[in-house]
Amino acid sequence: MTSDVRPAADEARRIFSFDNSYARLPAPFQLPQRPAAVSAPKLIAFNRPLAAELGIDLEGASDQRLAAIFSGQEIAEGAQPLAMAYAGHQFGQFVPQLGDGRAILLGEVIDRNGERRDIQLKGGGQTPFSRRGDGRAALGPVLREYIVSEAMVALGIPSTRALAAVLTGDPVYRETALPGAVFTRVAASHIRVGTFQFFAARGDHEALRRLADYVIARHYPGLEHQENSHLALLKAIVTRQAELIAHWMAVGFIHGVMNTDNMTVSGETIDFGPCAFMDTYDPAKVFSSIDQFGRYAYRNQPAVAQWNLARLAEAMLPILDSDIDAAVEMANGAVIDFAQLYQAAWLKRMGAKIGVLNPEEGDRPLIEGLLDVMAQGGADFTLTFRALCAAAEGDDAPVHACLADPSAFDAWAGAWRERLGRDAQTPTARAEAMRHANPYIIPRNHRIEQAIVSAVSTADFAPFERMVEAVAKPYETRDAFAEFTTPPQEDEVVLRTFCGT
Ligand code: AMP
Ligand code: MG
Repeated sequence: MTSDVRPAADEARRIFSFDNSYARLPAPFQLPQRPAAVSAPKLIAFNRPLAAELGIDLEGASDQRLAAIFSGQEIAEGAQPLAMAYAGHQFGQFVPQLGDGRAILLGEVIDRNGERRDIQLKGGGQTPFSRRGDGRAALGPVLREYIVSEAMVALGIPSTRALAAVLTGDPVYRETALPGAVFTRVAASHIRVGTFQFFAARGDHEALRRLADYVIARHYPGLEHQENSHLALLKAIVTRQAELIAHWMAVGFIHGVMNTDNMTVSGETIDFGPCAFMDTYDPAKVFSSIDQFGRYAYRNQPAVAQWNLARLAEAMLPILDSDIDAAVEMANGAVIDFAQLYQAAWLKRMGAKIGVLNPEEGDRPLIEGLLDVMAQGGADFTLTFRALCAAAEGDDAPVHACLADPSAFDAWAGAWRERLGRDAQTPTARAEAMRHANPYIIPRNHRIEQAIVSAVSTADFAPFERMVEAVAKPYETRDAFAEFTTPPQEDEVVLRTFCGT
């Protein structure tokens, strides 16, 4: 096993107990990079429960101190700021070198559960990988990532998290001048499919092997004992991604930019750019303004994930087997398996949404039937499934209210009720379980836009703060937050989300 991931040093009185395994990897894995100076750092948000989970000792620190640390002005003891190298397919086009162009990894900590977590500043200034970018982040995208990533975790979906957001006091120039901000992101790691592609494109098989062993030690411990540990790693990543995408589909989440550099090998959701949760159910829905051809539409996400995993498998060929034909066969097998793994994960999640304890293959057409009714009836994805919880206890009125033609639901519900008759749960227990599979609150795009507009144009962060509070408990029926459950009015609909990078 690699020695690249070592146990944490036990040092008292440090703010962060950093133990920076990625910094111990040589160039070109990473390049040291200090964050840039900013004019007037001001704290927007600091996630105290997450800080506690990470063992960060900032209890009692002033907002000014927090702003200095989480804008990169004060480099805490033990931090080894760096930019990671990676490549990636962007909208299908391979770019051999991307890398952290505006993200700077401060270091890694071992959290309370013994898990190694990255702490990274996003918008911390230029790096050798910035290409033509300014290395900065605008306030809007920072707030969006804060809200959506925390919502994902609260929904039970693997995701990077939000530790802090800080205003820089400096403008960033996009289409117009916007307030600049720095976002502090926490991830199981920031290693991507594109990280493997970076070394594959350079023909550096030794580095590929080292990266694979590092990922095994960090994310898939135990696999090193497998006969072909690198094949086992590929299969494990395929499995986690199949589960992740099924999770997204089950809550109506559209990532928006599923490039291979935005797909982690840990199985966490990463890089919340022009992402959104669907309001009205439409499988062809696209949100990103840069996605002209609908490559990353809702319904395409499973196929795109498999395509990305094929690029990973391709990159790993040299370390799967010294015989190229054998390596190709292994890689193909692993990638083909995605379809079945995804289908099984989807059935499990969607089955839970309609209240079936142990979904069977025969439930697939039943679930698809409901989705058809929803698509034809212009139904709100989240509201309809939440309303179905009441229908499971005999009250169909809430579902009827979601549909243009309620009789289409009644026609479907006959087969559904028949199926529930064979399901071993009481109606009360079933409805309760369904309320844990069908969220009451998702971070709706028009609400995010309203929170951003309020922060950007009037420096009022109250709507942002309220929304963070709302999405923290997505499965609880909380009347006080009912305003977050309603779909957008016609004039509130957000048709496209701009990348705003
Ligand atoms: P993203 O769209 O955030 O996934 O980024 C894609 C690539 O562009 C990554 O290599 C980023 O580091 C880089 N990038 C995005 N925005 C900027 C920026 N403002 N300055 C420098 N690099 C950037
Ligand atoms: Mg990215």
